[in-house]
Amino acid sequence: MLTVLLVEDHPTNRKLFRDLLSFRFAVVEAGSAEEAEELLHTLRPDLILMDIQLPGMDGLTLVRRLKARDEFLHVPIVAISAHAMARNIEQARSAGCVDYITKPITEDPFALLERLARVAATPAPAARGEGGRVQAQG
Ligand code: MN
Repeated sequence: MLTVLLVEDHPTNRKLFRDLLSFRFAVVEAGSAEEAEELLHTLRPDLILMDIQLPGMDGLTLVRRLKARDEFLHVPIVAISAHAMARNIEQARSAGCVDYITKPITEDPFALLERLARVAATPAPAARGEGGRVQAQG
């Protein structure tokens, strides 16, 4: 079974995602980017779901930090955000996210689950975007 690291600070949203993801993945949870970074010292998930708005370090800062490391280059990261503007999605992509989920979830949950299963099975492209270069940002 593939492992997903779910990074989401809001307990209700985290439970919602965990319950859905549990149909297809072994789920490891973190309530902050700092907690996620700590887990990732040893954890090598097949997929990371990253809330962008987090207390402390924001999600995209952690994405950039991970994408600057060889061992996370091919790990697909999917952003989660309440912001759905093209600009927000572009920011997430240039940080190194391969997909974007907007909250609240409006699409069929099982269609979303299938989409995430496909994303998890597809190694992220190796090309570094801003993630590898912009160190001072965030
Ligand atoms: Mn949040």
